[in-house]
Amino acid sequence: MLGKRTQMKLRFALIFFAVVTLAACTGLRKVDLPKKYNAPAYTQSELDLIMSDEGEKPMRVFLTTSKSDSMLLRQKSRNVVPDKDDKVLERFTQRLYATVRDPGSLGVGIAAPQVGLLRNIIWVQRFDKEGFPFEVYLNPKIVQYSTKKQPCPEGCLSIPNKRDTTQNRSYAILLEYDKMDGSHQIEMVEDFTAVIFQHEIDHLNGILFTDHLEKHRKED
Ligand SMILES: [Zn+2]
Repeated sequence: MLGKRTQMKLRFALIFFAVVTLAACTGLRKVDLPKKYNAPAYTQSELDLIMSDEGEKPMRVFLTTSKSDSMLLRQKSRNVVPDKDDKVLERFTQRLYATVRDPGSLGVGIAAPQVGLLRNIIWVQRFDKEGFPFEVYLNPKIVQYSTKKQPCPEGCLSIPNKRDTTQNRSYAILLEYDKMDGSHQIEMVEDFTAVIFQHEIDHLNGILFTDHLEKHRKED
């Protein structure tokens, strides 16, 4: 005869097993995100940061002059799942745009880590298009660089009072990215706009334009 305690334990074990099996069979498991983007769901701190204010409200720009900001700016970002019905993603892209267009910033591009979100999202002003529109890109990646380089004066919203000319930016790049509606695009970009893309995509990998200046100096 089993003791009362052992019987109870067995019963719990059986119930637990039944629940887990049932969940597995009936699809009660957590819904998996589309695997192809390799993008984790938002964390609570990401949600808090994004939803802390309205869409037209700029976010705080992280600066290299702060030690804790610097640490975040040096980290690699993760992908997002493109979804035009994702209200969190919509709010974030709106607020990132408000930040780059803020009279205090007035940049030509911005990357999500610059406001503290380690996700592969950037805004770039397209000087190669009529009217110089700002456009948002999800999961952007440079898949090819031209060997032809261009010198370019650069500055960064995250690095106060620093402007200098980089010498190693490619003149043309082949770019892949996702749009909000989930479509995947491949595009060739040239000239100054190509430098903005290179600068912003560097941010997603924890690289700052000043790294290129140092690299160039060492190569001299
Ligand atoms: Zn920058």
